[in-house]
Amino acid sequence: MKVHLRTLGCRLNQSEMDTMARQLRQQGHEIVDDPTQADAVVVNTCAVTQDATRTNRLTVRELHRANTVAPITVTGCYAQIAPAELQVLPGVARIVDNLHKDTLVEMLTGQPVAPFEIEPIERDQRPGTYGRTRAFVKVQDGCDNACTFCVTTIARGAGRSRALDEIVNEIRYLHALGYREAVLTGVHLGSYGHDRGERDGLAQLVRAILADTDMPRLRLSSLEPWDLAPDFFDLWQNRRLCRHLHLPLQSGCDATLKRMLRRTTPAQFRALMQAARERIPGARITTDIIVGFPGETDTEFDTSLAFIEEMNFAGMHVFRYSKRPGTAAARMRNHVSEDVKKQRSARLLALAEAGERRFCERFAGHTLAVLWENIAGATDAGFMNVGYTDNYIRAHCIHPRVLTDHITPARLEQYADGQMKATPVLDFA
Ligand code: SF4
Repeated sequence: MKVHLRTLGCRLNQSEMDTMARQLRQQGHEIVDDPTQADAVVVNTCAVTQDATRTNRLTVRELHRANTVAPITVTGCYAQIAPAELQVLPGVARIVDNLHKDTLVEMLTGQPVAPFEIEPIERDQRPGTYGRTRAFVKVQDGCDNACTFCVTTIARGAGRSRALDEIVNEIRYLHALGYREAVLTGVHLGSYGHDRGERDGLAQLVRAILADTDMPRLRLSSLEPWDLAPDFFDLWQNRRLCRHLHLPLQSGCDATLKRMLRRTTPAQFRALMQAARERIPGARITTDIIVGFPGETDTEFDTSLAFIEEMNFAGMHVFRYSKRPGTAAARMRNHVSEDVKKQRSARLLALAEAGERRFCERFAGHTLAVLWENIAGATDAGFMNVGYTDNYIRAHCIHPRVLTDHITPARLEQYADGQMKATPVLDFA
């Protein structure tokens, strides 16, 4: 069977789709990039904002127009919270909610899914085939918090963690496939193991992966600040752990954080940032900020902005508050106008850009290891290689060789348009 996979939304959705692709290939099916060639189509949806749900519906319609014969299976957060809105779309044959997503491949093919074994890799499952050097690995799902703006906790259910040895085995499998970096992801990554009573579950997992696999790089995706004890940052004494922390703050104003039911305060966040910067020199620390949360006055926004400036983030995702069905915030009063949200978001995006430039320019003249990930073009002088340092600086170089899948030292030179021009230092023929 030829299957077209389309994922929208977060890294967790991406990792789930990557896993489905590997499962389908292991069963002997083919993944096709062109939906017109597909016998079946699977869409992994996102519901984090109203815009996201609109994009999901447009995508399903577009896929059906491209292939009016292939049945469409829709899964993901939007399928979980509003299946009826998807069921009516043309071509939709099946809705699979998040709680049954792990059995989707079996539903689709009628064949049971085998666990990942290292040996059958000869069947040409090497990453070059799918053009990835970095693998997203889902380690947990769901969340037990109730941030008042968040629909994910509604769509994904209670927190639940995968077995540690299963994750270690999958990362060994991915390394044997040729991946050079694994990114641990989840809905609430920092709560890994909590459902088994393991308060330091994520630290245990990171130690096990670093000890029992040879994956050259390990990266952690988003971490809620309240999950991290200062000694958590001691893990970064192992240089295979990438110096990149994404710590969602959401607001720099205490009053706004309280209405969001966020389990942190600006003072606690400041102390955490200090501990991280002391223990992980050269770390890139980025964040998520919501502007225009219900009740966010000009004064609250100014307080938040001042705190965010003080934190000097090396990058920010800025979201305009989006009313989500079933969330507590949707029932709050004093919603902020779209115009005001636009103004506040523009001020934060300018700050984000300046912070990113400041961070990257600190490394001009330094030589860092770059994992080259893909080719963005070619000139007479060579291929435009693009990759990332462990502290997530995007680097590019023109080189006669394709460097994809290689980790090489590279001298970072000047910053422009979100990336650093670099000169790789090659020690291989
Ligand atoms: S911790 Fe994250 S996933 Fe959980 S409710 Fe809050 S924002 Fe949502």
